[in-house]
Amino acid sequence: MHDHPHARPHAHPPHLHRREFLKRVAVGSLLCAFGEGCGGLSRTGSASAKYDLLVTGGRVVDPSQGLSAVRDVAIAAGKIARVGEGLPRSEARQILDAAGRIVTPGLVDVHVHVYDGVAPLGIPADPNHIAKGVTTVLDAGSAGANTFPSFRRSVINVVDTRVFALLNISVIGQASMTPDTQHGELLSLGYANPKAALRTIEEHRDVILGVKIRLSREIAGEHDLKALAIAREASDAAKLPLMVHIGDTHSSLKDIFAILKKGDVVTHTFHGRAGGILDPNGRVLPEVRDAVGRGVNLDVGHGRGSFSFDVAEKAVRQDLLPGTISSDVHRYNVDGPVFDLATTLSKFLHLGLTLEQVIERAATNAARAFGFPRGLGSLREGSEADVAVWSIAEGDFEFVDALAQKRIGHRKLVPVATLKSGRIYAKEQKR
Ligand SMILES: [Zn+2]
Repeated sequence: MHDHPHARPHAHPPHLHRREFLKRVAVGSLLCAFGEGCGGLSRTGSASAKYDLLVTGGRVVDPSQGLSAVRDVAIAAGKIARVGEGLPRSEARQILDAAGRIVTPGLVDVHVHVYDGVAPLGIPADPNHIAKGVTTVLDAGSAGANTFPSFRRSVINVVDTRVFALLNISVIGQASMTPDTQHGELLSLGYANPKAALRTIEEHRDVILGVKIRLSREIAGEHDLKALAIAREASDAAKLPLMVHIGDTHSSLKDIFAILKKGDVVTHTFHGRAGGILDPNGRVLPEVRDAVGRGVNLDVGHGRGSFSFDVAEKAVRQDLLPGTISSDVHRYNVDGPVFDLATTLSKFLHLGLTLEQVIERAATNAARAFGFPRGLGSLREGSEADVAVWSIAEGDFEFVDALAQKRIGHRKLVPVATLKSGRIYAKEQKR
């Protein structure tokens, strides 16, 4: 692991601004404490034990090592020390009882928006991510070159969720658009500045993992291909992948996809707007298959306007599965229909993917899709001790897509507790 800012000690530095301090206090209330019902946490009394924590008896689903079976997970010094059957409880100082639960790597959401306070769509990172099984997020272009330094200072360096970023090719990032100000960040092509982007990437290479561009008409107008060429230039110069947002674009998908290379990511793959991945007969377009064949990753990015059950059902039926499942959860969908990554994953369970397949797409593949530090998205020994504990609720659950289409699913992933580098967070506890 490189020296990421989150590796710093947890004490509140005295110089924190009031807003940062308040955020830290809010985070503190998410941290588990004994006796608060954090999904079965207890002490063993073994003071000299070799493990700090043992997560016992859960069904461990870790596609990075082809594992889906009842196992114990032992954690020491913030790393996964061992995954095995019936590990002795006496060897751990604390036990997190996960019997009857699902245990996965801490999830990696590769499309979120956490520049709370500057990008209008931004939401606070910790209550929406680390409290809900997601230890690592990739902010997808909320900040551009002019707004990134403050994003780093006020969010990335401060929150407990591991935040990495894609830099928006527009210098203003996503600071301009709200539901009643539909003026996108690339309507003025002058905001797309490859030199400023490259300079910012070089200054923040430890946290910027790629370049982001949004190409819908309301954002990039009719010069989407010109803007894309500028983003391509910055991405190539930085040797980092490009994430491209599609949906109701002026140019055809064919022309857009022709510019994408191995390692690039298309987000909003299953959107239901014009310019989608299906032909008028509902068949997956050849240029989509061609892009996948070249190593372009198809990402979900559910979002407010970008996930259609109808499109996803048709694609899945034709064996076109996403490479990564991300939420694009933000201010305008966090109260529905997106809510969080767990709900997005539950929608894919309803679409017929297995639990192993959805975890693979939100952990294994997600951690590999960009240049995240090694040791994320996996429970292999030596990995970061990022672990998520889930229950699977069974019943009739109404899931809603971005077009207000409804489906009734019967399984829902519910976050119980999250560990980041061995520290425990939980969503529900007494205040
Ligand atoms: Zn987004």
